[in-house]
Amino acid sequence: PSVSGRSNLTLAGQEAIITESISNATIAQWSYYYTHGNHLAGTNKSMAEWTRDKWIENGIPSHLVEYEVYLNYPLSHSLSLTIDGGERFVAGLEEDVLPEDPTTGASDRVPTFHGHSKSGSAQAEYIYVGWVLLLYTSYSKATKQLGGRMGAKKDYQRLVDLGVDLKGKIALAKYGGAFRALKVKYAQERGMTGVLIYSDPGDDGEITKANGYAAYPAGPARNPSSVQRGSTTPGYPSKPGVKREDPSEFIPSIPSLPLSFRDALPLLRALDGYGLTAEEVGRHRWTGGLNVSYSVGPRPGAIISFENIVDYTYTPIWNAIGIINGTIEDEVVVIGNHRDAWIVGGASDPGSGTAVLVELSKAFGELLKLGWKPKRTIVMASWDSEESGLIGSTEWVEEFVTWATPNVVAYVNLDIAVSGPHFSLTAVPELWDLVEDTIKEVPSPKVPGKSVYDEWITKGGKARVPGTGSDYTAFVHESGIAVIDFGFGSGPKDPVYHYHSNYDSYTWMATWGDPYFTHHSAMAQIAGKTVLRLSENTLLPYNVTTFYTALQSMFSDLKGEIAAAGMTLDLSSLEAAISRFSVAAGDLMAIKEALEPGEWGGTQEAIVNERLGKFERGFIGDGLPGRVFYKHLIYAPGVETGYAPTTLPGITEAVRVGDVKEAKKYVGITAAAIDEVAKSLGG
Ligand code: GLU
Ligand code: ZN
Ligand code: ZN
Repeated sequence: PSVSGRSNLTLAGQEAIITESISNATIAQWSYYYTHGNHLAGTNKSMAEWTRDKWIENGIPSHLVEYEVYLNYPLSHSLSLTIDGGERFVAGLEEDVLPEDPTTGASDRVPTFHGHSKSGSAQAEYIYVGWVLLLYTSYSKATKQLGGRMGAKKDYQRLVDLGVDLKGKIALAKYGGAFRALKVKYAQERGMTGVLIYSDPGDDGEITKANGYAAYPAGPARNPSSVQRGSTTPGYPSKPGVKREDPSEFIPSIPSLPLSFRDALPLLRALDGYGLTAEEVGRHRWTGGLNVSYSVGPRPGAIISFENIVDYTYTPIWNAIGIINGTIEDEVVVIGNHRDAWIVGGASDPGSGTAVLVELSKAFGELLKLGWKPKRTIVMASWDSEESGLIGSTEWVEEFVTWATPNVVAYVNLDIAVSGPHFSLTAVPELWDLVEDTIKEVPSPKVPGKSVYDEWITKGGKARVPGTGSDYTAFVHESGIAVIDFGFGSGPKDPVYHYHSNYDSYTWMATWGDPYFTHHSAMAQIAGKTVLRLSENTLLPYNVTTFYTALQSMFSDLKGEIAAAGMTLDLSSLEAAISRFSVAAGDLMAIKEALEPGEWGGTQEAIVNERLGKFERGFIGDGLPGRVFYKHLIYAPGVETGYAPTTLPGITEAVRVGDVKEAKKYVGITAAAIDEVAKSLGG
């Protein structure tokens, strides 16, 4: 067939070309490239250029966008323990160089440190403060099961309630549950002088040394020297009205360091038998997998001295942006992933997503060679500085907000596209069906004859609404753009994924994570089909009826929260708004159904698209109390979780702190927004 003939490929035909073009062999090549070089935000310009050039090579006009931002880089660190003046332990603070894994010994490997951490030192007695269990995505599941709400804050509060004097002490905390930045924030609020956060092997599921598994590189268990780096500044730079020149109020006022469990062990052991016992604290999962008692301390005379010296500087960062113009240029689908990493490797975070993105540019290139032009414009983005405050994507959204808000119909995020074999989906509810239908057509890389969907459902998979933790944040929470974030993650029976550690390397990926890169290929197919379905379907593939179903379950979770708080709150206006929404959503979906398959450009189609396209924006309010950057009234990151979402957040968070007045106010605000959106669905 002629080139122009081929350009008239059906959507199924386009998808087939994408699928055929995707190869695990080339994905592995891209992965290899991205896992062998400097990644820290502001140091990876050659990778930004390489990405841009690859996209150009594949026929996609691309360019770099530079921003100047405030970042810190590690200079030096140290940590020692003295007891009654005698030195007991000096921490190595370095991940082991493994001959089996070349990038762990790279000359430019990044020291262990926290992004946007306070430069300084601390010297004090210390207290083990536990972590947090809690991913309270749903009241009924997590919260009830735990007999009440639990959070990082609650762990500190529990100790205060038990008479532990936190003031002036250093906190020794476990990683897990809540966003690390909140662990530092709450310690600071308690008057503590420093924070050490370590990765406890007790949180590694079943693949532990205790269960007979060898540690990486010999086996799939956690390497004892592995350290999780990561940012510790919640909210920066995302609060509006904050001058970029004065970010100091977002940087903690106390220093912190991340530790391996090997370095944490002597510190924990020294506390054995001092202060409260784990039983007295009585918190779920207070203890971990190390052979210590997890006593709270302090131990009189046991002093930690540590230093975290970092250099703050303004530095350029680079987003790579590729644009495939569609026939309708002012309707845009964006697909992106960050490129910066804490380490030289980063095979999973973010290399797996980036390798998929490059493979997709190659697949789109195959379509372009056939004369294809998408209906909606497709924008590809490789963000810088996600790791320290989601800066690259947030800057872009904020720069293009007046353009992006009306034009971007969806943002598809890839980040940790592969760290294990289990598919997971976070998205706005109106896009759940789109992704679920898509993964029904992608074969499971694990179980022959099954689809990714089958596997996902068998394992109890369930779509979630967006909290935060990656670059979709500014899109949905600041601008009300519909977002999708998906990937294959690891579960309790899988090789331990060394998140933000030197062992998130190409060698780990090719040995344990995804040896044949088949999950990478599946992810490329899923992302490719999803983007095509968003760009090519005449009618936007949103299902607002699913949004209604989700809203109903959020409503019942809210009732659970209210009951747990023992609060009386009149929800009738909210309930009425939700049922009006249900009617409007049903009507619009019926009209949509009747139109399909429609001709592009018809008036009816335009009306339906207009209503669907505007829909999510309608939930954007003036900003939630104390965190105006988060404007979405249906979901927000949990105040106490940092990552996991809270639904109907204005109301729910007020209920959680027992503020009836605020809760009432947000019932009104939320009901009014839902009513407005219901009206707009009906035109
Ligand atoms: N993915 C990053 C992390 O979880 C996001 C950091 C941030 O929000 O600043 O560490
Ligand atoms: Zn990431
Ligand atoms: Zn990360």
